[in-house]
Order: sequence, then structure tokens, then C-alpha cells
Amino acid sequence: MTMKVDDPRTYQPPRDLLQDRVILVTGAGAGIGRAAAKSFAEHGATVILLGRTVRKLESIYDEILEAGGPQPGIVPMDLAKALAPEYLELKDSLDKEYGRLDGLLHNASILGERSPIEQQDIAVWHDVLHVNLTAPFVLTQVLFPLLRDSGDASIVFTSSGVGRRGRAFWGAYAVSKFGTEGLSQVIADETSEAGIIRSNCINPGKTRTGMRRAAYPAEDPGTLLTPEEIMGPYLYLMGADSRGVTGQSLDCQ
Ligand code: NAP
Repeated sequence: MTMKVDDPRTYQPPRDLLQDRVILVTGAGAGIGRAAAKSFAEHGATVILLGRTVRKLESIYDEILEAGGPQPGIVPMDLAKALAPEYLELKDSLDKEYGRLDGLLHNASILGERSPIEQQDIAVWHDVLHVNLTAPFVLTQVLFPLLRDSGDASIVFTSSGVGRRGRAFWGAYAVSKFGTEGLSQVIADETSEAGIIRSNCINPGKTRTGMRRAAYPAEDPGTLLTPEEIMGPYLYLMGADSRGVTGQSLDCQ
């Protein structure tokens, strides 16, 4: 049964919202991805923790088990460097272990450099576009068969305010987030007929993480919401209450 939700920002999910769902979170080692992985597990999901720093993934793995959550999976993967064999190996191991994928949160991103277009370093531009946009595309493409096998799968992309309106000095990062919104909409349009995969974006808004600190070093972090405080839309889009919602871009704040 689905519940009508007026505002995903204040969504109050049942404790068992994500029971028996298998959800992959990229960039699960820190910030918003870490909070999302823990929150999904608290609501019953088996989370697959993908990230580039194994130590961080292991500590979240331990925290989830200590809190009584389902045993997570760990996928050490650097999205800046991963090549086809690594993606295929991931798909095969998820297939073997779970036989499907119910949720895919594309959360990992890099900021690149804050500078005018005239001075954007071309190598950094490539890295940002690769990690923030190309890697989510490849990951989604490779995992499509497993998402289809779910029968009710949710793909969630992470956007940003600068992915909807360009702003000075946000260069490659802003462009990557515009691309993210576009990719999500294309997938939503391609899958809407079958109704078994939904694709949406979330804009977290200014949130107390390492990335925010890097972008605004002089800001008082105490004025920002924590990742744990913005989980409403993430839980909403991952659970059954958002069935039929696709091609949208939600705000957390
Ligand atoms: P964060 O604190 O910098 O965390 C980003 C995570 O992504 C880290 O776990 C990082 O791994 C991982 N990551 C980065 N590059 C990777 C790679 N090549 N391969 C695998 N994992 C990689 O950032 P955040 O603030 O939580 O941001 C999460 C998402 O929200 C991003 O998409 C960001 O653009 C978006 N967002 C954030 C804000 C905000 O105010 N914080 C606002 C709008 C949008 P390591 O821990 O190993 O470095």
C-alpha cells in the first residue's frame, strides 16, 4: 500500500519501509552518502557500500551491524579509475548474491576547482565530468538488468542548486549536475511505460559535509543542516510510497 506524501522533506517513514530491499549507495564513506546508507539500513535495507576508501566503508559496515541492521556489502571502487571489468564484476557479484537491485543512489561526487571558466583546468574538468556524470551513467547501464529484476526499482541521482541554474565559478561541477538532471530525465522517460523503474534527482541543499566545507571554508558549519537531518526525500524516493513518481527533482531544504 502506498501513502500520499505532501512534502517529502518532512516524510515520516515506517520503520520497516525498506525491509528486504537491496540498495547500492555510491560515496557511502562520508557525508550524505554515509548518512543515507545508515538510514536505509535502519529502515530495513541491505545496503551495498561503494566507495574509494575501504577504511571508511568498513567503519560504516560495523556501525550498521552494531545497530542491528542487515549485513551490508562492501564494494571498494574508485569511480575516477574504474574500467569495464570492475563494473561487470560488480554486476555479477550482486547478481550472484542478491539476484536483483531495488535501489541505486548515485551520491559520490567531487567538487573540482572553484574558478572562472577562463581558468578551469582541463584535466580537472575531465575528472569532475567523469566521476559526477559518466560514472553514474556507466553504473546505471551495467546494473539495468538487476534493476529490472526488482520489479520496483528506484534510481536516485544527486543534483545541486547549481545544476538547475548556472552560477559563476562553479564550472565543471555545475555542468556535471545539469547533466545529472538530464540523465535522470532521459532514464525516467525511457522507463516510464514499463513502470518498474523510477528515476529522480535530489538536491540536498547546503549540508554540513566535507564538500561544503571545501566550497565555503569561512562558513560556520553550525548554521547548516546535518546529513542526518535531510534524509526525508531519500527515504521517500527509495521506498514504496514514491511508486509512480519519476522524472522529478526534489529539494531537501
Ligand atoms: P563529501 O562529504 O565530499 O562525500 C563525497 C563522497 O563521495 C565521499 O565518501 C567520497 O569518498 C566519495 N567519492 C568521491 N570521489 C569518489 C570516487 N572517485 N570514487 C568513489 N567514491 C568517491 O560530499 P557530500 O557533501 O556528502 O556530497 C554528496 C552529494 O551531494 C554529492 O553528489 C554532492 O555533489 C551533493 N551535494 C552536496 C551539497 C552539500 O552542501 N554538501 C549540496 C548540494 C549537492 P572518500 O570519503 O573516500 O573521499
